[in-house]
Amino acid sequence: MKIEEVDVLVIGAGPSGSVSSAYLNNNNVKVKVVEKAAFPRPVIGESLIPRVMDHFDEVGLIPAITKAGFEKKWGARFIRDDETCVFDFGDKFGKGWDWTWQVPRADFDLVIANEVQRQGVEIEFESEVINVEFNDSDSITTIQDKEGNKKQIKAKFIIDSSGYGRVLPTLMNLDAPSSVSGNSSIFTHTIDVNRPKGEEGTMITFDILETKVWFWVIPFSNGVSSLGVVGPTEFIESLSKNGDSEEAIRKVISLSKHYKERFIKNEFLFKPVMLKNYSCSVSQLYGKGFALTGNSSGFLDPVFSSGVAFATESGILSAKLITRQLNGEEVDWETEYSDYIRRGVAVFSTYVSEWYTGNLQKVFFHQPSDPEVKRKICAVLAGYVWNKENPFVKKHHRAIKGMAYAIDMLSS
Ligand SMILES: Cc1cc2nc3c(=O)[nH]c(=O)nc-3n(C[C@H](O)[C@H](O)[C@H](O)COP(=O)(O)OP(=O)(O)OC[C@H]3O[C@@H](n4cnc5c(N)ncnc54)[C@H](O)[C@@H]3O)c2cc1C
Repeated sequence: MKIEEVDVLVIGAGPSGSVSSAYLNNNNVKVKVVEKAAFPRPVIGESLIPRVMDHFDEVGLIPAITKAGFEKKWGARFIRDDETCVFDFGDKFGKGWDWTWQVPRADFDLVIANEVQRQGVEIEFESEVINVEFNDSDSITTIQDKEGNKKQIKAKFIIDSSGYGRVLPTLMNLDAPSSVSGNSSIFTHTIDVNRPKGEEGTMITFDILETKVWFWVIPFSNGVSSLGVVGPTEFIESLSKNGDSEEAIRKVISLSKHYKERFIKNEFLFKPVMLKNYSCSVSQLYGKGFALTGNSSGFLDPVFSSGVAFATESGILSAKLITRQLNGEEVDWETEYSDYIRRGVAVFSTYVSEWYTGNLQKVFFHQPSDPEVKRKICAVLAGYVWNKENPFVKKHHRAIKGMAYAIDMLSS
């Protein structure tokens, strides 16, 4: 069988694989990406957060994305019956980007993959990784194209950015229970014919239907909006008799006071997708000759749109560490990679858990709102979860619980 040789093999050309391969290529590392699908391909994860801009900027992707004209995202709105809480990233505590995009991911991922290829990265589409074997100094990966032809690739490192494909976690038995679990989702796209003009039409919104159930509306610049619901799996399953995802999402739309009129009569652009129990985690984030990045390394919950930001954060960091190691430097993967990524995940994990206990919702909707508290929470929602100057990062375990307790005390 033909054997190709590279320094780094990246599995998957989603945001994580694109950013890591771009970084490696820009730093003269011989890299190749193998991607199972033909692009554009469907994938969920349409609301970005500002932290991703740092990563796209660092590998020179911003001009190509800007040219594509995606909808700018300045903040996010949370609504609960007649209560509203808007976060404007421009008000956030600390440094960092104060805007990003909300994007149909099939188009977005195609734009970044095209740009990465233009920069010189080789992406082999419609080729699936089916096996990986590690030996002392490198790895041999077997890939198969859509005609069934097999080929092997020898690499010093593998970055597994295979997202929901979870190639190495599956082959190496690295799955571990997630700290957040038991949620499912249904989502689809619609041509937003009743979209109001101005911010009401374009603002990304999370409509809270019950403490543990929320409905998203993500308007895109092409006139299409993404609609989705998240909730406990039993709730999602109870929405229709025979698991009919269209019946289920129509029921959710009818429950939304705010959006019922705008969407109830709309046709959907594809049959609503039902994704059950999507949270996942791994027992280790790296090993000799490999790193897991993005969803391959785990996924919490969509409520704060952190998935793509973690995908690019881990993608670019793993690429930096590999580049250093290939240049003969010592790298401490435990502290420089695993501890770092897990610290950020822990912050988001607290916010996600406190969202579903209802504590965070209590803080969001409390009136009068405290602008300083809001600025600090806003920085977390923007993805700046490593900034220890922010007490809502540093003391994340106690901050939200403490605020919710104080609100309860005030109102009792
Ligand atoms: C309901 C729901 C809503 C979400 N909403 C958001 C959101 O609003 N914002 C957000 O940031 N995140 C969101 N996410 C999370 C988001 O989908 C992911 O975190 C993000 O797409 C991860 O990017 P990635 O690059 O790791 O993987 P992906 O984007 O999934 O890319 C992985 C690539 O690997 C390829 N691949 C898989 N297996 C193989 C193989 N064997 N060989 C070769 N290639 C392979 C796939 O074809 C794919 O192209 C949501 C998730 C869910 C479940």
